[in-house]
Amino acid sequence: MKRKTCEECGGKVIEKKVPFSLYGQELGMFPAEVCNGCGEEVFEENTSEEIDHIAKEKGLWGLEAQTKITKIGASYAVIINKKIAEFAGLEHGMPVHVHPESKGKIVIEA
Ligand SMILES: [Zn+2]
Repeated sequence: MKRKTCEECGGKVIEKKVPFSLYGQELGMFPAEVCNGCGEEVFEENTSEEIDHIAKEKGLWGLEAQTKITKIGASYAVIINKKIAEFAGLEHGMPVHVHPESKGKIVIEA
């Protein structure tokens, strides 16, 4: 399954080790096929499995959730599940700073 050209842009594909991080946590360097045109990185299946395994060991699995915007008076609230809150170090009653990062994206900082 060695690719020589990128399906996305037709650029040249080279094999090299690339850093992989999840939620700001560095998981390590992994071999990938990288396009020198668009930068697309493709991992082989066994490499993807290794990355998943490391992510699970570091407790980075299942840190995404679907939730809904709730209305409280004139304001809105978002339910953050316990696992995400614990990972992010958020606690009940803790003061946090909220600001939009872009349209459709909000950042909550402890
Ligand atoms: Zn490309």
